[in-house]
Amino acid sequence: MRAPQAERFSELFEQYDWAATKASIYAKTAADVERALASEKPNLEDFKALISPAAAPYLEQMAQKSQALTLKRFGRTLQLYAPLYLSNECQNICTYCGFSLDNPMRRRTLSGSEILMEATALKEMGYEHILLVTGEANKTVGIDYFERAFKALQPHFAQLSMEVQPLKQEEYERLLPLGLHAVLVYQETYHKEDYKKHHPKGRKSNFTYRLDTPDRLGRAGVHKMGLGVLIGLEDWRTDSFFTALHLDYLERKYWKSKYSISFPRLRPFSGGLDPKVPMNDRELVQLICAYRIYNEEVELSLSTRESEHFRNHVIKLGITSLSAGSKTNPGGYVVEPQSLEQFEISDERSPAEIVEMIEAQGYEAVWKDWDKAYSGLLSKV
Ligand code: SF4
Repeated sequence: MRAPQAERFSELFEQYDWAATKASIYAKTAADVERALASEKPNLEDFKALISPAAAPYLEQMAQKSQALTLKRFGRTLQLYAPLYLSNECQNICTYCGFSLDNPMRRRTLSGSEILMEATALKEMGYEHILLVTGEANKTVGIDYFERAFKALQPHFAQLSMEVQPLKQEEYERLLPLGLHAVLVYQETYHKEDYKKHHPKGRKSNFTYRLDTPDRLGRAGVHKMGLGVLIGLEDWRTDSFFTALHLDYLERKYWKSKYSISFPRLRPFSGGLDPKVPMNDRELVQLICAYRIYNEEVELSLSTRESEHFRNHVIKLGITSLSAGSKTNPGGYVVEPQSLEQFEISDERSPAEIVEMIEAQGYEAVWKDWDKAYSGLLSKV
């Protein structure tokens, strides 16, 4: 008999032990990796093998399989999006972020006309899909502010996604008719104790509320959710396993929604934190390929945190969306380019240069998330 499905992910998560999970990943052998690579439908144990140290000698095979699966499902396309930072006000202390409450800096929230100035600049670059980003300051950038921003931007863009504080289910429901397409909510780390160390103050310190945010998104009927951890805070292999577990749970429960995964590695910022557990480039390639082999459908996104060289070399291996020309400060495109960034970006090429690089590799740059149009077409068949 199948166990009853958990009401929310935190119930399932509580059944796992971090140390035991980590040990089981590090115990995987070459035979486990070969079995995972040969599997038609890899499971979570196969995913553990693919992210384990035992998979390092199989990187070439993993890359070939990942590339073939990505081509089959997504073709030779890469979606482009850009973040639009609306505010750097934040009531949280997060040890790894330039907008943390304890970082003395000038705070700024864009007005309606400033939002439109930034949006116009992004539109002129060709963008149809933008990601609205804020810190967490409910009094100034709460649901009413988001509603105004969505109303102002909806006529100008095909897709509006957001990466802001976790909201209530009914708040997501308010934004859906205004064009809300996707919500990114990264858990940062699934290591509960370390999570507390990195989030000592503010609403973000509530680990479980954040952990259950994708459940609220699923219940609200949000079209797409983005998951991920901040690589460098804790053991990336164990954190990635829990991300895959979360994805598996959500796909079963909210099967109408789509999913994407990002792999942000800690980047420098003023007063910044060094990674506790660094990840090298080969390991990031291994992780990207492991996700693709495990899950043919999930979108994999790579931001401008990564270097020009790295992005040029991995776009064919499993990635499906890229940001380009990003500014990580409110007003960064035209209103106030000199304000303090959330973190330094690494790949500083313009969107036009990124398109050139994509086309040179025989791929097509797609300016909006084609997934919605594709779903619409399918529903008419
Ligand atoms: S990560 Fe988000 S919540 Fe934390 S300090 Fe930065 S902006 Fe605020």
